[in-house]
Amino acid sequence: MYMFRRDFIKFTSLGAASLFLPPQLIPALNISKVGAFTPLRKNVGFYTDRGGTIGWMVNDEGVVVIDAQFPESAENLIGEIRKQTDQKVNFLINTHHHGDHTGGNIAFKEMTEHVFAHENSKANQMRVAKERGNEEGQLYPDMTFEEEWSNQIGDETITCSYHGRGHTNGDIITHFENANIVHMGDLVFNRRFPYIDKSAGAHIGNWIHILDHTVKRFDEDTIFIFGHSGEGFEITGSIEDVKAFTNYLEQLMLEVEKGIEAGKSLQDLKKEMTVVKGAPQWSGNGIERSLDAAYMELTEGE
Ligand SMILES: [Zn+2]
Repeated sequence: MYMFRRDFIKFTSLGAASLFLPPQLIPALNISKVGAFTPLRKNVGFYTDRGGTIGWMVNDEGVVVIDAQFPESAENLIGEIRKQTDQKVNFLINTHHHGDHTGGNIAFKEMTEHVFAHENSKANQMRVAKERGNEEGQLYPDMTFEEEWSNQIGDETITCSYHGRGHTNGDIITHFENANIVHMGDLVFNRRFPYIDKSAGAHIGNWIHILDHTVKRFDEDTIFIFGHSGEGFEITGSIEDVKAFTNYLEQLMLEVEKGIEAGKSLQDLKKEMTVVKGAPQWSGNGIERSLDAAYMELTEGE
């Protein structure tokens, strides 16, 4: 069993991190349909509707759901699961606390035995719901973990692991070991500018380490499910897509660091940059959030 060592995850040098990438990765042309309940391999699949991509497993012994989107889309998903089985959901797993991943938890109130997440995700969910006066609409995890957790259901082993701060301070990676399918939550934005939630402890430097480790831990056969993707890009992919997003984060930090060294302000960088040099597949709206976070991390160390 893999044991993650915190000592390894300190961010050492931006310059040391470099990746070979083909000049142009060919964009996938299949766009997932809205409300698509899609099998991938060995009883594991994904569901897209509105919000972060849902992962699911339905076998003879039980049901696992990863993330819940919003109440309406969660109801739609439950309808799809009911076409497959009458069993209760054993675990609803939250990859992290954001509303487009946990807002639909409430729809599972009567039909899941457990809601499961990292302890920081639960704390974030409770804090944000309190701040927004929306505690009524929440279903909080009744089970949390710190570093690693595994459970066997039928012929599938589900392993969740936590590797420190990334997109928030509570993101987990879920591995369906038999199917060799990994749900990355929002640790990968496939060809789409990421949301980097500094208000919930995000850290780009450690995020890069999480992804480097992910690339070493899994293989060419692994199917990855991503929380979000850019228009025209899929919400599933391979280890190459994980490497490509790692490269995006590395290039972002390098370009912002260069700008700071040249005496540029955050406003200057926002005016100048529409894409990150070295990762042009990340385009469209939303680069500001990357620049805000990278600038903060490089100037304030947080
Ligand atoms: Zn998120």
